[in-house]
Amino acid sequence: MRPKYVYSFHEGDGKNKKLLGGKGAGLCEMTQIGINVPPGFVITTEACLAYLASETGELPDGLMEEVKEHIKELEKATGKGFGDPENPLLVSVRSGSALSMPGMMDTILNLGLNSDTVVGLARQTGNERFAYDANRRFIQLFGKVAMGIPDEEFDKAMHAVKVRSGALSDIDMTAEDLKEVCELFRNVVAEQRLQPFPENVWDQLTVAIKSVFNSWMGKRAVDYRREFNITPEQANGTACNIVAMVFGNMGNDSGTGVGFTRDPATGENKMFGEYLVNAQGEDVVAGIRTPKPIQAMAQEMPHLYKQLEELRDKLEKHYKEVQDFEFTIEKGVLYCLQTRNGKMNATAMVRTSVEMVEEGLLNKEQALLRINPEHLEQLLYPGLDPNYKASPVAQGLPASPGAASGKCVFDADLAEEMGKKGEQVILVREETKPEDIHGFFAAKGILTSRGGKTSHAAVVARGMGKPCVAGAEGISVDTAHRLAIMGDKVVHEGDVITIDGATGNVYLGAIPTIAPEFSPQLHTLLEWADDKARLAVMANADTPEDAERARHYGAVGIGLCRTERMFNASDRLPIVVEMILADSPESRQIALDKLLPIQREDFKGILKAMSPYPVTIRLLDPPMHEFLPLETELAQQLADLKELKQIVAKSQKTLDTLKLVDPQLPPSFMATPEGLQMKLLAMDTSLIDKTIEDKELMLQRARVLREVNPMLGHRGVRLGITNPEIYKMQIKAILEATAECVKENLEVHPEIMIPQVCSLEELRWVKQYVDTIRQEVEDAYNLKLDFKYGTMIEVVRACLTAAELTEVAEFFSFGTNDLTQATFSFSREDAENKFLPFYQDKGIIPENPFESLDVNGVGQLMKLAVEKARKAVPNFKIGICGEHGGHPASIRFCHHAGLTYVSCSAPRVPIARLAAAHAAMTQASFDY
Ligand code: PEP
Ligand code: MG
Repeated sequence: MRPKYVYSFHEGDGKNKKLLGGKGAGLCEMTQIGINVPPGFVITTEACLAYLASETGELPDGLMEEVKEHIKELEKATGKGFGDPENPLLVSVRSGSALSMPGMMDTILNLGLNSDTVVGLARQTGNERFAYDANRRFIQLFGKVAMGIPDEEFDKAMHAVKVRSGALSDIDMTAEDLKEVCELFRNVVAEQRLQPFPENVWDQLTVAIKSVFNSWMGKRAVDYRREFNITPEQANGTACNIVAMVFGNMGNDSGTGVGFTRDPATGENKMFGEYLVNAQGEDVVAGIRTPKPIQAMAQEMPHLYKQLEELRDKLEKHYKEVQDFEFTIEKGVLYCLQTRNGKMNATAMVRTSVEMVEEGLLNKEQALLRINPEHLEQLLYPGLDPNYKASPVAQGLPASPGAASGKCVFDADLAEEMGKKGEQVILVREETKPEDIHGFFAAKGILTSRGGKTSHAAVVARGMGKPCVAGAEGISVDTAHRLAIMGDKVVHEGDVITIDGATGNVYLGAIPTIAPEFSPQLHTLLEWADDKARLAVMANADTPEDAERARHYGAVGIGLCRTERMFNASDRLPIVVEMILADSPESRQIALDKLLPIQREDFKGILKAMSPYPVTIRLLDPPMHEFLPLETELAQQLADLKELKQIVAKSQKTLDTLKLVDPQLPPSFMATPEGLQMKLLAMDTSLIDKTIEDKELMLQRARVLREVNPMLGHRGVRLGITNPEIYKMQIKAILEATAECVKENLEVHPEIMIPQVCSLEELRWVKQYVDTIRQEVEDAYNLKLDFKYGTMIEVVRACLTAAELTEVAEFFSFGTNDLTQATFSFSREDAENKFLPFYQDKGIIPENPFESLDVNGVGQLMKLAVEKARKAVPNFKIGICGEHGGHPASIRFCHHAGLTYVSCSAPRVPIARLAAAHAAMTQASFDY
């Protein structure tokens, strides 16, 4: 038996979004909970898929019969007739898939109008102008969506009638004008498509249903699904909703608007939205007229505003989620046309989560799960530096927060092209349309000169978390000449501007930005997350300042302190170089003795900043040559020095030679005491000789240290064993710092971590240094030290021999950057610039394994290591400190694999805390 394809709003299951689409399910659910929704029905996504799969291009058998039955019901409910010239029923034909894809698919309004029914509509409503206005809108929309005729063709005809009649705007056009427009529009269709506009309403309906289904495979929709990784499991096909039309443009007791049950920019518990009196919904969304804030309705239409507030409460109580709804008022009656979960920025998501728990609408688990951890990244978006003084050249509506600078670009294609080349661009448009979506993806921010906070530009930018300034009316965009007038300035394409989505200000040039503050609500939310999570979240931090920042973000320790970052600081690098160049153990020791107190102070600072949490300090990892200049650079410096030596020698003769030319040389020609000439004259060439000698030595050392595969070479523990003085100095610095902290009564928990270990023997070898130094420090400070000794796991052999490593190591930390490199045999330095993008593009590797942990390969090695280690030592402490430690999907896997903690860069700590809670709360649905 063939499936049922059509459900009335009274019978459809409001929870079955996959079958009915989000919009259809919402309309069914709203109807069934008693919200005033215009009557209608839904054609299922199954019908869409059957149609798209058919080779004939026909709708599935029996579908139109079912549609006819339901149209009869609509006729009964409305008392109107479909195609009835006396009392016509008009419908909207709307797309809607399981996941909201705003503006990505097609919708047709006012269907059912033809040359006969338009007369009936005029009579029915007593408003001829309205009827012809509806008709011309229908012909244009149908012509565009179902017949592929560009808007411009219709706009030209409309413009011609305006010029002839002297109407300044659409509102000034009379019924006669609009009647003429309808005729011209029919001619446009006939000329463009060599066939008449369909007059039969059933033909209109059949074509409209097909167009809605086809729009599922349209470029915009396909691009959108690819960008947001929407899989067929999440949304497959679009449903088609057929709804009796209600009109917001039937006079001053009619109107239309969009609302959010709470403010989507701040999360404040206050209805937010915009409306227009005597207008159709498309006027609001397209930004053609600038709407009024919803609160103004309290004065203008108090009775309806009260109803709107009741609608808002009913929606939130039922859906237990912030709703984004559309409404229309037809002659004083309020209808809700659509509702869906509101897309909000992270600030609003966090605030509403916390407040909805306080209001008893949600429990903590629900409040945490409704926030995508990655979205918290938006809270780390920069705002403009308040100390920087700049005057805006224009101001619009603060439509989506965050600040961004970039080159002005006036069309989406160019924005995409430049964005792909890595340029920062701001997409500047009069208004945006759904077909501009690829430009949004590429742009750092969006600026429009028309439209409100619910215009397309605003909604899409907010959803993407990109800054947007909308409706900046002081800007006039001249796309044809690739320029915009902003205030009294002319801005050309490519000129840099800055937009501030928090204030709506637009500036010329790039303005410095600062990191945002952590809100109290985010603190609360993350505390709830910590209660649910099993994984602890630590930070990768290399300096006391980083450690403090990490604490501020809620890290409960440092999972990785990379000591080489300290070596690279400008006050230490010369000493490190001195150590590398040393030609004997004694001279090397002199350099190390200089480094020791500096490192001790570093470690003390970090231990103090993190007290009483653990701090895992990794001993030196990179190969030595990384601290020397490049060989090519050294060779160039040497050549320059030798040239300088010649110049100095020659300069010293130059003055005498010049006097041969002119014994009366004027004073201005003579070198001044502070001039370069004088300096060269006075220069001691032995200084140059010494520098040349040093550089030659450096070049020679760099050549000796050169390796074909340095990342697989003389680094990490291999270096620590062959050059023991370096590790010994670092161990001593750590333990002395610990002893000094203990003397100051600070609770500190250092952990010494060895990189690149592949065998137990390596660990044992370095452990001997640790044991000896521990004894020395304990004796010197007269106290007992408490610390852990452990290893990174970033070599495949370490995973395979994890059990025996536990004989010496007290903890493990997966270095998944190197472990991924080792598992794939992909160079982590090169893969991402060379073949990986191609591999990803072609689906050979679905995701970049250096970003998202490769569960099937690297993950299996990790699981093996965890099992082996825990079998040997139950509860053995195991963490991760590669970049994957801050990636939500990878954190989910780490939870599954039984890790103790994850460690990531400080700004990702909040994301990791929430992701760790999500993993714990959703572990029942793991599919590893
Ligand atoms: C790793 O390899 O994952 C790691 C954290 O170490 P690094 O990135 O410093 O090599
Ligand atoms: Mg590593």
